[in-house]
Amino acid sequence: MTDTPEPTKAHFRDDVTVDLVKSAAADSDVLFAARVSTAGEQSLEEITKDPERSKGLINYLMRDRHGSPFEHNSMTFFISAPIFVFREFMRHRVGWSYNEESGRYRELEPVFYTPGESRKLIQRGRPGKYEFVEGTPEQHALTTRVMEDSYRQAYEAYQEMLAAGVAREVARSVLPVGLFSTMYATCNARSLMHFLGLRTQHELARVPSFPQREIEMVGEQMEQHWARLMPLTYAAFNKNGRVAP
Ligand SMILES: Cc1cc2nc3c(=O)[nH]c(=O)nc-3n(C[C@H](O)[C@H](O)[C@H](O)COP(=O)(O)OP(=O)(O)OC[C@H]3O[C@@H](n4cnc5c(N)ncnc54)[C@H](O)[C@@H]3O)c2cc1C
Repeated sequence: MTDTPEPTKAHFRDDVTVDLVKSAAADSDVLFAARVSTAGEQSLEEITKDPERSKGLINYLMRDRHGSPFEHNSMTFFISAPIFVFREFMRHRVGWSYNEESGRYRELEPVFYTPGESRKLIQRGRPGKYEFVEGTPEQHALTTRVMEDSYRQAYEAYQEMLAAGVAREVARSVLPVGLFSTMYATCNARSLMHFLGLRTQHELARVPSFPQREIEMVGEQMEQHWARLMPLTYAAFNKNGRVAP
C-alpha cells in the first residue's frame, strides 16, 4: 500500500466581507461644516430643526461640488478580500488610510478566491469598455478546478520553504494574488464617494465606470454601511449622478 499525500487544506471563497468597525459620520457633520461659513458655531438642535432646509443644503453642496463639508466625518472598515482587490483599492490615495496584515510577521492562511456561479467569466469588447457575459457550466468548472489546483500547489511550495527555515518574507513570493488578505481602511464621505463613483456601476451614475467585479463587491458593502449613517448625503450623491463633490 502506498501513502497518498494529504491534499493541502485550503479554504476557497467566492465572497468578500466588509465590516464597519468604527464611525463618526452623520449628515449633521456636513451641515455643521457648511453653516460655519455663514452662521458660525451652531447647536445640533438648530441644525436639525428644519429637515427640508438641511436636505436642500446638502443637495446644493453636492450639486455645486462644494466638497470640503463632506470631509468632517470618519468611517473605518475591516475588509477581507483577495490581494488583487487591495492592489486596486490602494490606488485611492486621497482621504484614505490603510493598514494591511503582514506577510513578513505572520504565516499567511491558505484562503483563496474562486469566482462564484454568478460571476460573469467571459470578457468581450475593447479595453476600457468591456462587457462581461455568463460563462458556461464547463467554463466555471474548469476555472474552479484549475484555480484550486494552482492555489494548492503554490501553498505547498510556501509551506515547504517555511518548513526548511526560509523566512516568511522570502517564501511568500510564490503565493498568488487570489490569496485573501485583510486590512483596515479609513475614509470620509468625500473620499468614499470618489471611490464609489469609480469602483461601482450604477444606473444613476452620470459618468459610467467599468470596475472589476470583485472590488465592486467591496464597494457595494461599504456603500450600504455609509447609506445608513448618512442618508441625506447618500441620497444627494445618487441624485447628482454619483460624482464626488
Ligand atoms: C475602471 C478602472 C480601471 C483602471 N485601470 C487602471 C490601469 O489599467 N492601470 C493603472 O495604473 N490604474 C488603473 N486604474 C486606477 C486609476 O488610474 C486610479 O489610480 C484610481 O482609480 C484612483 O483614482 P484617483 O487617482 O482619482 O484617486 P485618489 O488617489 O484618491 O485621488 C483623488 C483625487 O485627488 C487628485 N489627485 C490625487 N493625486 C494627485 C496627483 N498626484 N496630482 C494631481 N491630482 C491628484 C485627483 O483629482 C484625484 O482624482 C483604474 C481605475 C478604474 C476605476
